[in-house]
Amino acid sequence: MPIVIPPSLLPADGRFGSGPSKVRAAQAEALLAAGDPASPVLGTSHRQAPVRDLVRRVRVGLTELFGLPDGYEVALGNGGSTAFWEVATACLVRRKAQHAAFGEFGAKFAAATRRAPFLEDSEVITAEPGTVARLRPAGDVDVYATPHNETSTGAMVAIERVAAPDDGLLVVDATSGAGALPVDVAQTDVYYFAPQKVFASDGGLWLAICSPAAVARAEEVEADAGTRGRWVPEFLSLTTALANSRQDQTLNTPAVATLVMLADQVEWLLDRGGLDWAVARSTESSGVVYSWAEQRDWATPFVREPAERSTVVATIDLDEAIDAGTLIGALRDNGVLDVFPYRKLGRNQLRIGTFPAVEPDDVRALTACVDHLVGRLS
Ligand SMILES: *Cc1c(COP(=O)(O)O)cnc(C)c1O
Repeated sequence: MPIVIPPSLLPADGRFGSGPSKVRAAQAEALLAAGDPASPVLGTSHRQAPVRDLVRRVRVGLTELFGLPDGYEVALGNGGSTAFWEVATACLVRRKAQHAAFGEFGAKFAAATRRAPFLEDSEVITAEPGTVARLRPAGDVDVYATPHNETSTGAMVAIERVAAPDDGLLVVDATSGAGALPVDVAQTDVYYFAPQKVFASDGGLWLAICSPAAVARAEEVEADAGTRGRWVPEFLSLTTALANSRQDQTLNTPAVATLVMLADQVEWLLDRGGLDWAVARSTESSGVVYSWAEQRDWATPFVREPAERSTVVATIDLDEAIDAGTLIGALRDNGVLDVFPYRKLGRNQLRIGTFPAVEPDDVRALTACVDHLVGRLS
């Protein structure tokens, strides 16, 4: 018999996934409006004004959200952040990359540059899951790469240049952090992400905020392609993506519904108070989870160092007497969803997405639900 959680304890919305993450009802309503035959956007050409206007709203909104310095531009293309790893490998690394890898996602980008036959072997600085690795200046490196937030473990780092842009570009995987972690984009050359985490939309796109130095690098590297066996497929060309983005388009057909929900979320964040508001809200929600765990003798924040605990993805180890899988299944039976740990991490753990779309009161309710179940299960 499934355990029934009393309705008074349940969150109003039970979506706590780390990506895809909760989509707000207003975003789904924006989809309905976009499908209205009186002023259709869905089901119309991505080369015409209605869809291009959507892309413009996203680019203008992100420019405002991140307070972009002069010369920085927002590029986008199809394939999600995973595709952007290949874009960066093909178009940004001149000879050698250095990677900080402290979880699955950082390691995957490192594997991508390592596979490229036209690059020197990448330098990979690793750290145990639950801790962070930091980049360090190196004379022979021309791209430095780090995750902002490692979604697989719930650890985050502050973003700071390790070298002048002329010596090495800083390329940041902000897939789960962008829009809710503090950042000075002027410290970065590429700050890239996908819409299914903080931006509460569907997956399938990548967005990359590029500095003038990054744009110049892509132009230089792509012009030289052909030397040292480098080949830049058009689909992976950053200069092509930039040229299309400047016209509020993508190289090939984007998921228009993803853009509708993304534009709505960017404007929602701006209306609420922008990045500072989003940072405060996720900090509140994750703080609820961490202090709750610290007050339970059967729960411990996985990331030991408080400053490295992610404010958007909170990971909590459970005492071995409590089986996380059983607990997560019982939560699911009650409509409280997707708090499982990253599959390859293999820990007895809860992982809770505390993105800005999630209500802090719903996070409080989630902790009450876990308390209730732990009382019944043990
Ligand atoms: C989710 C995630 C990715 C993968 O994003 P896709 O859009 O699915 O390719 C990459 N990096 C980080 C840090 C992520 O959280």
